[in-house]
Amino acid sequence: MFVRRRWTALATTSILIAAALAHPGPGAAAPPSPAITLAPTETALVRVRLADRAQLDRLVAGGADLANRPRSRDGAWTADLVLTGRQLADLTRQGATAMQVVQRADDGTRHLAESRRAAQERTRAGLRTSGAATAVDTLQFLQAYWWTTGGRTFLQAQVATTATDDPDVEITVTWRTADGATGSFPLYRFEDSGEYQYHYALPQPVPSRPVQLTATSTLGGTSRPVTPSLWPNATPPPQPAGYQKDFIDAYLTPVDIKARIARLGRQYRDLVDVIDLPNKTQGYRRNAAAYLGDPAAAAVVVESVRFGDQGMNGVQVRTVDPGRPNRPLSMRYRDRVLTISLATDRAGTVTSTTDDVAALINAPRGARFRATVEDGSAGLPMPVAGPVRLDDGLQGTEVPARPWTVQALRIGKHRDGSRIGVLAYSQEHAREWATPLVTLEFAERLLANARTDAATRRLLEQVDVFVIPTVNPDGANYSFNDYNFQRKNLVNHCTGASRDPKYRTMWGVDVNRNYTVGSLFDGYVGASANCLSGNYAGTAELSEPESRNVIDLAKAHPNITFAMNVHSYGGYFMWPPGAYKADGRVTLPRPSIDESTLFLGSARRIVGAIAAERGTVTWPSQTGPVADVLYSAAGNSADQLYYELGIFAWDFEVGNDRWNEATGQWEGVGFQPPFDEAHAEAQEYAGGLVELVRVARDYAADNPVRR
Ligand SMILES: [Zn+2]
Repeated sequence: MFVRRRWTALATTSILIAAALAHPGPGAAAPPSPAITLAPTETALVRVRLADRAQLDRLVAGGADLANRPRSRDGAWTADLVLTGRQLADLTRQGATAMQVVQRADDGTRHLAESRRAAQERTRAGLRTSGAATAVDTLQFLQAYWWTTGGRTFLQAQVATTATDDPDVEITVTWRTADGATGSFPLYRFEDSGEYQYHYALPQPVPSRPVQLTATSTLGGTSRPVTPSLWPNATPPPQPAGYQKDFIDAYLTPVDIKARIARLGRQYRDLVDVIDLPNKTQGYRRNAAAYLGDPAAAAVVVESVRFGDQGMNGVQVRTVDPGRPNRPLSMRYRDRVLTISLATDRAGTVTSTTDDVAALINAPRGARFRATVEDGSAGLPMPVAGPVRLDDGLQGTEVPARPWTVQALRIGKHRDGSRIGVLAYSQEHAREWATPLVTLEFAERLLANARTDAATRRLLEQVDVFVIPTVNPDGANYSFNDYNFQRKNLVNHCTGASRDPKYRTMWGVDVNRNYTVGSLFDGYVGASANCLSGNYAGTAELSEPESRNVIDLAKAHPNITFAMNVHSYGGYFMWPPGAYKADGRVTLPRPSIDESTLFLGSARRIVGAIAAERGTVTWPSQTGPVADVLYSAAGNSADQLYYELGIFAWDFEVGNDRWNEATGQWEGVGFQPPFDEAHAEAQEYAGGLVELVRVARDYAADNPVRR
């Protein structure tokens, strides 16, 4: 238990953000928000207003755990970050302001329990000296949409200026409603990878339907007046009386999901196949490890080569002083105790160093143990220490410690490849607990209503549906039992000092950066080669069983023509390209005009179906290609499905920001919201997936099924 407690405390040590903080910017110190406090070692998901763009760039360069696309407003940047109280204090000292604690580490645990119980920059000087001060730019609306949700009408606009290189141009949008009310709001410049994209603003509340918008700029440009369109302007067919839904009453762990899959397989034999995917995962397992010595003074990290559950938890390790002169360094393993006898000189004084001891442990062929010198302990005298008990540190007691078989449901009347296929998969990222709720609600809606609703029955005669509820069960088990903010899988590819148990919450591969198209290995942006980074791409393309399972399933069923990769959070609806190269921001190839039309038209239908459940409207600014609306995500699965397998592949980020009428702010919901919110997300996005099945049916009517 001693070891376990120490790891928990040390796990929050700030190494990644420390890198970002090594070069503090000039940001003026802003007073910390008195309402937001975080204990130094507490980890939380926090919406932070950053001091300046440079601070954001340092965070990104340092591999910070960014949960969402940073937003630019008024020259200020906000980002959702997973960080400790200490890191937040550091950021605050450098001028950042905490705006909202989106989620504390144990919020997820509590909500689980509750749910079970119930561009490029040109200088100002350059502009002035070139005589451009009187230049008039041209303004064009890229987007102008309005919608009503929860009795509130919102307006969103994007405007492009021809003065793309002037970072100081300000654009204001003026609106007018049918009954003559008017108002205005500023837009903010959005650059990505150093290139100007457009000016935009978060959705703005307006008193009623806006009928005219005009944009003006500080350079004197004025747009033509435009009439905003209704967004998404698509309504799904009405659900018939007696349509069955609401099959989710608690958060579901991978163990729960396995049971749910089995139950659906038994209950709907005529409509379901349960598919065991071919690549077993590592399982909820880790090597057993301990500090031999005191990491604050001198220590060696000793770990078992096999996993802790393979008989290595509880094995003891110690160093002893032989008590005699001129003894060599030696070790012996007997009765589950590894004893290292330290070397002595003629006077009987111990002479072994930490490096000597680590080298000794690592020397034997086929060794049972591995060792690394603790960071900071290199070359120090090795203390007499132990015995210490090796432990894998895993807290979950209900999780089987063996390789895990990831499963898919195949749903349809004709599961023979003759019908167009749709694939929905979720929880590539472990902490996104609401996402399997979405896919399982979707699956059970189809199955239950096939018994009682003629339209659903017909749909399942026409479409072959594949669902992988949890792609990354090992990481999910770790998120549920050990560390709520776990994003990656549980495979530890780190070597050397990065294997120190204090980094235990930072190990693993980002499954959605491990695919082959537009990958880190191909030079694309948005993944890391650092094994401790939140976006670590793995040792090679498809190095992980989790990612191979998704691709193998898609390859084995060439009738799959549409796919949805379900993530959380933020309320996005995206499609390829999902990655670009930094130099020149060269994206993967853009879809053709016809395909872009299909992507957007289908997206509007699906956004309309999502909105039908509780009025949640995915913003037009967050509906589009990944690389345009979120960020570059090198090696993501949707890109491989689209570019390599020709599948129309989308991504959801469920969990849209909620409008706070009292504060007039959009607020983030986080990865593990109170269950009521997760439940509502499952309901609305399951409705979106049912619409995707209808989109596939309609597509098949005009296009032959690939076999
Ligand atoms: Zn995700």
